[in-house]
Amino acid sequence: MRVAIVSTGGTIDMVPGPSGFRIDESDPAPGRPPEGAVPSGYETEQFRLFALPSPHMTPSRMAELCRFLGGLAASGRFDGIVVTHGTDTLEESAFLADISLGCSCPVVFTAAMRSSSELGVDGPRNLRGAILTATCPEFRNFGVAVVLNDEIHAAGRVTKTYTSNVSSFASPGYGPLGFVDEDRVFLVNRPCWRLELPPGELSLDERVGLVRTAAGLGARELRFCRESGDRAVVLEAFGRGNVPPDVADEVGESVRHGMLVAVVSRCYVGRVLGVYGYPGGGSDLASRGAMLAGDMHGHKLRLFLMAALGAGLDREAVSALLERL
Ligand code: ASP
Repeated sequence: MRVAIVSTGGTIDMVPGPSGFRIDESDPAPGRPPEGAVPSGYETEQFRLFALPSPHMTPSRMAELCRFLGGLAASGRFDGIVVTHGTDTLEESAFLADISLGCSCPVVFTAAMRSSSELGVDGPRNLRGAILTATCPEFRNFGVAVVLNDEIHAAGRVTKTYTSNVSSFASPGYGPLGFVDEDRVFLVNRPCWRLELPPGELSLDERVGLVRTAAGLGARELRFCRESGDRAVVLEAFGRGNVPPDVADEVGESVRHGMLVAVVSRCYVGRVLGVYGYPGGGSDLASRGAMLAGDMHGHKLRLFLMAALGAGLDREAVSALLERL
């Protein structure tokens, strides 16, 4: 089995420094897998694309990563591709790859919650699990996955739930696709549908805002997005998709200005739906032209809208894709 390992940085590549963990710039063999991480009989080829803490990943770097992965997949040289990444924005990079790659070479993201110098280091085991998953014959057409702590998660569902614990990555409300048990991979749930972009070159329109509501908050922030020239905004509403009345007025104003307003919930599990008709309720927002975007997480939906607008999709095409959620 031949596996490409693409490193981008993150704790998995970090060492202690005078003021805290940092990427090891002096590593003579950057991205080389640690002892025991590569199962016997496997060959790996390392590519260091970035050496960044993941809060330094930007949408354009994520798009560059996706294009790089597309090139590796198209080369036909690998049975699977593993990406190592910082945990903070891993779910965004993995999601962008999931909606844009549309290729048959399996791609798995992994990371570490602890650096190589810490007690109970998790990186080597996570890397091994990711390699095994990416090359598992049954793991075809599952989309991009994220493997940490012996669990396999769908990129569209997974989220970092805990700041420091090795069991941080979870798919709340859905559970993992499967798990890794020593040298075996067990897939127990197949995603029946995934959000995907139409085939084509990935290009992002970054004029997409993200606004989270809180009691009495949101209208000023939405107005800021509109006045800054955003073409779309994701609104993280309360519960089933409800907002304060002044936020609803601002939603209407944004739609009148030609912006696409997509509503998700600030709850981290569950769908939005127009079940409330009061001013600011989900049904009111829909009647003012907002799109209700199911169970998406706001930060992932933002990337989807960037890619959809970058691909030239119009309002109807975006709405048709979101209707499936
Ligand atoms: N802050 C680090 C990063 O995302 C955390 C990690 O990698 O786990 O780069």
